[in-house]
Amino acid sequence: MTTVTEIFDFFLPRFCPACKQKLAADEKYVCPECIDKIQRVSSVRLQFEFNKKFAAKKFISGYTSLYLFEKDKELQNIIHALKYNQKFLYGKFLGEKLGEIFRSLFEGWEIDIIMPVPLHHLKKAERGYNQSSFIAKGIGKSFRVNVRENILKRNRFTQSQTTMNISERKENVSGAFTIRHHEKIAKKNILLIDDIITTGSTINECAKVLLDNGAAKVYAASIAIAD
Ligand SMILES: [Zn+2]
Repeated sequence: MTTVTEIFDFFLPRFCPACKQKLAADEKYVCPECIDKIQRVSSVRLQFEFNKKFAAKKFISGYTSLYLFEKDKELQNIIHALKYNQKFLYGKFLGEKLGEIFRSLFEGWEIDIIMPVPLHHLKKAERGYNQSSFIAKGIGKSFRVNVRENILKRNRFTQSQTTMNISERKENVSGAFTIRHHEKIAKKNILLIDDIITTGSTINECAKVLLDNGAAKVYAASIAIAD
């Protein structure tokens, strides 16, 4: 029997963003072969990254990430499509994966609210969406916690950080975030979501502002870790 998806695929074929092959009717967004090729983060590496990025500052109580970001590999193609080619549903797809794989960890953290790292409103207007919001929604769906996007606000139009060193990145995000509706985060455990975490300076800055405004604990999760 021909399914509705098969009919749609006949007229509007869908392609895997990583290998560019046509997706089968039962494949969602990325083909399973490509998903299997993306390198997962080991628990040893996660501990190492937590110590390097977050332990000294003490703003982040726990951190996890699904994948290692490798240049010119499958995940780079997927994240590029997510950020720049309007493929925002890839974010939800990856978020659901993150939520399913780390369900028991997140439940142990007793998360009350999930928040994406916000984009400045001009950047959001330019892109049309915040890719991390879709990741947050995917995680929220997988373990039923509300996503709040209107509490943490990015004030400054911070420059792209890709060419900066660690101290330049810290300077770039210092004072960039504020809180609206303080009462909504009082004594709450918050899970911050970003697509890729590099130095952790953006996450540390967001967490500091949340804690200064009454949050109980702040945790962080990302789709990928990059060097
Ligand atoms: Zn593929």
